[in-house]
Amino acid sequence: MKHQRYGNLLVQAALIDGKWIGAATGNTIAVMNPATREAIGTVPDMSRAETRSAIEAAERAFGPWKRKTHAERGALLEAWHRLMIENLEDLAQLLTLEQGKPLDEARGEIRYGASFVKWFAEEARRIGGHTIPSPTADRRIVVLKEPVGVCGIITPWNFPNAMITRKVAPALAAGCTVVIKPSEFTPYSAIALGLLAERAGIPSGVVNIVTGMPTEIGNELLQNETVRKISFTGSTRVGSILMRGAADSVKRLSLELGGNAPFIVFDDADLDAAVEGAIVSKFRNGGQTCVCANRILAQAGIYDVFAEKLSARVNTMTVGDGTQPGVSIGPMINEAAVVKINRHLEDAFAKGAKATTKGHVLPPGTQYVAPVVLTGATTQMQLASEETFGPVAPLFRFETEEEAIAIANGTPFGLAAYFYTESLKRAWRVGEALEFGMVGLNTGLISTEVAPFGGVKQSGLGREGAQVGIEEYLEMKTFHIGGL
Ligand code: ADP
Repeated sequence: MKHQRYGNLLVQAALIDGKWIGAATGNTIAVMNPATREAIGTVPDMSRAETRSAIEAAERAFGPWKRKTHAERGALLEAWHRLMIENLEDLAQLLTLEQGKPLDEARGEIRYGASFVKWFAEEARRIGGHTIPSPTADRRIVVLKEPVGVCGIITPWNFPNAMITRKVAPALAAGCTVVIKPSEFTPYSAIALGLLAERAGIPSGVVNIVTGMPTEIGNELLQNETVRKISFTGSTRVGSILMRGAADSVKRLSLELGGNAPFIVFDDADLDAAVEGAIVSKFRNGGQTCVCANRILAQAGIYDVFAEKLSARVNTMTVGDGTQPGVSIGPMINEAAVVKINRHLEDAFAKGAKATTKGHVLPPGTQYVAPVVLTGATTQMQLASEETFGPVAPLFRFETEEEAIAIANGTPFGLAAYFYTESLKRAWRVGEALEFGMVGLNTGLISTEVAPFGGVKQSGLGREGAQVGIEEYLEMKTFHIGGL
C-alpha cells in the first residue's frame, strides 16, 4: 500500500515484545486523513488480553533495562533522537497526514518531540541520590533513586509525537519500560516512534505500542498490578476516570489535562507584540492545544484597537489542507470537534457576540472551520467556561486589574495563562496572582523541554520536561545501613 512512502515509517501494526503484530481477532480500526476524510489505512484493534501480553513483555524487559548503566540508556536515547532528526521530514509528513496540522507546525512538533529525547538522554546520567547525616554514629542513611517500573502511557491526538516523547523519554532514562496507548485518531506517529526506537537499538519489550479503542486497553492498564504508573495527557473527564481506576492498585499518576487559558492584554501593553502573541497562542494547531488561549481579556482603553489589529492579522490567515504551502489553519481532528466549535459560536452569537473577521473561504470538506475573532464575549457564554479547542478568539472587555484577575482565575482549570503589560510592578502582581501552572508574560509561547510543563487545580498532577520531569518516573528508596 503506502508503506514505501513516509520513509517506510507508516506501519499498520502494533508492537509487543519486539514483534510487529495484528490483533488475534484480525479486527482493525481505520485511521482517517482529517483533510480529506479518506482512510489512510488501519491499525490493529487490540484486546485486553493483548494489552496484558504487552505489560508482561514490559515486565520481562524491565530488569535488564534498569540494570543498564545510566550512560548506556542515555546513549540509546541519543541514537533514538538522532534517528528522529534524520527522519524529520517523513515524520512530519506522516503527522500532518493523520493529524491535519500545517506541515511547518508538524516539523516544529517533531523538533519539539525530539528535544525531550535529547534532554532526557542527558538527564539519564544525572539521576543522583543523596546521603543524610545519621542520628547515630553506627549508621549511614542513603537515598537511592530507582525506576518506578512498568508505565502505561496514554496520549492524545493533538501532539501525536511530542506527547509520547515527553513521557517515554524520561521513563526510559529513569529505567522504566512502557506500554503506550496512542490516540486512536493518530496512531501512526506513535508507531513510527516505536520503529525508530527499535532501529536505535532499544531492546525488545522496553517500548510496546498497543493500538485500538480506549476502554479495553485502558481498563487493563489500570487494573493490572504490574503497571506501577499511568502517565496521561488528555481531557479532564478521562483524567478523572483514570485517577479513579488507578486507585485500586494505588498507581502513581502524572496527569496533564484540560485548560481554559486566559490571555490578558492591559492598557499599557505593546499591542503589536500582544497581537503576535495571541496569534501564536490561540491559533497554533488550529486552536487545538491545551495551552491555547481560550479567553482573550482586553482592557477597555485598548479593546477596540486590539480587536481591530487582531482581526486584521487573522484575516491574513489561510485555511486548508496542511500539506499545502502557506496554510496556517488545517482541518479540525474530527467532526465532533467541528460540532463543538459551532455550538460555542451559535451560543456566543445568540448572546450578543459579533464576528469582526472577514469570513474566510473554506476548502471543500466537512472538517474545516474559519478562524474568527469575536467581540462582546461575556462570562455567560459557553466558550467562557469550556475549552473551545478551535480557532475562535473571543474578546472579553474588562476595566480593572482586579477584575481581570478574577475573570482569569474564575475557572476550575489552571494550566496556562498569558498577559501583556509593560509595567514591571503589574507584571509581578499579576504573575503572582494568576492560579496557573504556567504563566507567559509578554509571550505566547511557553513550551520548551527545559522548563516544567503542567497545571494546577483540575488541569492535572505532576510536571513534564525540565530536570523535574524525570522524577515522575523515579522512586526513592531509603537505605539504612546499621551496625557499622
Ligand atoms: P481529547 O479530548 O484530547 O481527545 P481524551 O481524553 O478523550 O482527549 O483522550 C486522550 C487519550 O485517552 C486517547 O488516547 C484516548 O483514546 C484515551 N482514552 C479515552 N478514554 C479512555 C479510557 N476510558 N481509558 C483509557 N484511555 C482513554
